[in-house]
Formats: sequence, C-alpha cells, structure tokens
Amino acid sequence: MGSLEIFEESKKYMPGGVNSPVRAFRNVSVNPPVIKKGLGSHIWDEDGKEYIDFVASWGPMILGHNDPDVVKAIKDTLENAISFGAPTKGELILAKYMVNTLDNVDMIRMVNSGTEATMSAVKLARGYTKRDKIIKFAGCYHGHFDGFLVEAGSGVLTERIPGSPGVPEGSIQNTLVAQYNDMESVKALFEKYGEDIAAIIVEPVAGNMGVIPGEKEFLQGLRDICTKYGAILIFDEVMSGFRVAYKGAQGLYGIAPDITTYAKIMGGGLPCGAYGGKREIMEKLSPMGPVYQAGTMSGNPVVMAAGYATLKKLHENPAYYEHMEDIGRKLQEGMKEIAKEKGIPLTVNRCGAMFTPFFTEKGKVRNYEDAKACDTKLFGKFFEHMLSEGIYIAPSQFEAMFIGVKHTELEIEKFLEVMKKF
Ligand SMILES: *Cc1c(COP(=O)(O)O)cnc(C)c1O
Repeated sequence: MGSLEIFEESKKYMPGGVNSPVRAFRNVSVNPPVIKKGLGSHIWDEDGKEYIDFVASWGPMILGHNDPDVVKAIKDTLENAISFGAPTKGELILAKYMVNTLDNVDMIRMVNSGTEATMSAVKLARGYTKRDKIIKFAGCYHGHFDGFLVEAGSGVLTERIPGSPGVPEGSIQNTLVAQYNDMESVKALFEKYGEDIAAIIVEPVAGNMGVIPGEKEFLQGLRDICTKYGAILIFDEVMSGFRVAYKGAQGLYGIAPDITTYAKIMGGGLPCGAYGGKREIMEKLSPMGPVYQAGTMSGNPVVMAAGYATLKKLHENPAYYEHMEDIGRKLQEGMKEIAKEKGIPLTVNRCGAMFTPFFTEKGKVRNYEDAKACDTKLFGKFFEHMLSEGIYIAPSQFEAMFIGVKHTELEIEKFLEVMKKF
C-alpha cells in the first residue's frame, strides 16, 4: 500500500484518517505523506520518497530520528521493564537530572503529554492560591483541555474554529484572555479581577500561532504582576523547553516562573510530559497535599529512559545549541534574502531552533492579530512546493518549524535552493 491508499483507508477507521488534526493537511490541498521511517534529519514515506524533516514530530526529535543513544536506552530498559505502575529507579534518575540541570524546578511530577502537564499545573495553581481565574493569551496553545480552548493557537487556529463545540460555558468562564506582548491588556484584567486570579499561563516563546518570541519586558512584566497579586506564573515550555536553550526560554531571558510545564523533547519521542516548580507549591500535590492528580502510565520506565538519554545528551553538548543557532540564522537570513529578491512580503521569526516564515506585509509579527493577518493562501502554495521538492515543513502558517542537531549546512542550502524555485 502506498501513502495515498493508506491515508484513504485510514479515513474509514479514524476521523479524518488521523489521531491529531494537524496531520490531515486539511488547509493545504495535498494529502499527507504516510511516514514509514526516519534517520537523523531525514524521513521516508510509504512510497519511498525522501524528505528533509523540519517538523521533527512537532519538536521532540531534536537529536534526529533514531538517535543511537536514545534507541539503546529504550532497548536496554525493555529487557526488563515495560510498565509496573510502581516506583522505579528510572523516575528518580530523570527527576533528579531535571531538578539539578534546570533553574526553577525544585520538584517535578511526570505525566503523559503536554496537555496533561498544563491542565495539572493550572489545577495545582488554583489549589495552591484557592482562586479560580486564569489568564491565557490569544493565539497561545496549551493542549486540548477545555479551559484553554479560548482563542487558542495551533490546530484550533488552523481549522478556524472559534473555540470548540463540546466545551461547556462553565469550563471557560474562569478563563480570561489577554493579548500577547501587551502588558496593558494584562494589567487591565488584574485591576478588575486581581484577587481572583490564580495564575497566568503563557508560552514564553510562542510557537502555536507560528513562532513569536515573548518580549523580555513583557515576560518580566508578567513576573512582576504575578508577584504583586500573589498569582502563580506558569511558563508553558512544552515546546520551547530544551529547544530555544537547554534551560528553555526562562534560561534565555533569565526570568523565573513559579511552575514550568514540559513535554515534547523531554520524552525523547515517547509520550511524556511533566510539571515542576517551587517546592512549597509542588508539595500541595497528592499524596503529600490535597490537590489530586494521578496517572496509570505516568513515569513509565521506557519513557523515563528515553527522556533521560535525550536530556543528558543535550545538556552535555552545549555545542549542539551553537550549531542550531548558527544554521538557524543562516536559514533565516537566506529566506529573507530570497523573498526580497522575489518581492514576496515575508517576515521570518526565529528563536534558536524554532522558526516560522510569515507571509505578511506588516514587517513584524508580534501577536495573534499580526499572525492572523498573514496570507495563508500563499503559505499553502509555498508549503506544497516545498513538500513536493522533499522539504517537509509544518502544513500551516500557524505552526513552528524545527531545526535539529542533525541538520547540516548543506541541508539548509538545499532548503534555500528549493525556496528559490518557488
Ligand atoms: C504541544 C503543546 C502542548 C500540548 O502538548 P501535547 O503533548 O500535544 O498534549 C501544550 N503546550 C504547548 C506550548 C505545546 O506546544
């Protein structure tokens, strides 16, 4: 069976033929290749077509596909363990490693996805502060938890649904929406609801309306206003963690959140998530404290081993981040130059190893409104051209694209060559 046949048949058995909406390529006019294998920065589809991969499983595969150390860690663990639902040493190893190598994590709780991490972090913040309201930002995406599906990014934005049917009014009545990189919009909410606000949750480098870095004064403003009102600052570093820098956006900017959420890279490609932060907050979690959160598969030994192998390799090789920054800059500059020569209005936002080309006349993309104003039709054409020429990028204007350790200068040149033909 070739890619098309598999995808067509999948539609009979799974809604849209997929298990996550963005994979269906609904807003571009090609069918998604069905992927068979990956190695380093390359993937192959069921028809044997080869691509240079800039999606990297939406971020996790920063070391490249089938990294030998990660594969070995998984295989070695499998000799003795799949799952016990009991404490294992692997959990301690990864938890201790994260606490010791990250700045603002005294204790950590493992879960199975980014969604679980963010929804649990918000529950913990509410339990700790005994307040109900949260602030999120238009265009930020924190997973598919009901309370976050208000002006959300990623697939919600791509599919152009305002929120989602099935989310009762009651689930979002405590969700306040502010504008990204706009401190005034946050101040206004605190002036009105200050004593009721449990937490601000934010992607410190937004990746789900396309890449939009948070401005330093904005993030510092969030830190200060949370401190002033006794609210919890949650940095959702599910995407930016271990990517824009090993220590994430908080490491890059030097701003300390109270709770941080992780997933994607930290699982080494297996389903994983975690949230961690100040000891006095984390101790409110059950079984120590009253805030209930649990998971049959949480801290799974195979996942812990893959995560540890990945983080250890990243942490021990700071040169990886220099390499990604270096080729990232080349890609960004190259794309801008080509667009200029061709007279295509293009803004390329990048933070470390994540980037988005925005097709816009605006010159700057710094919030949800700017992102929404982009020419998604032109993006669609660009996407189809790149894909047909073997460059696999995200099929939406509102997603991040990823550089990995295994991308070489040659592959960046290839990307730019293909773009020149567009
Ligand atoms: C991907 C993502 C999530 C959701 O993670 P899942 O593992 O898909 O549930 C949450 N927050 C951010 C910032 C993300 O990029």
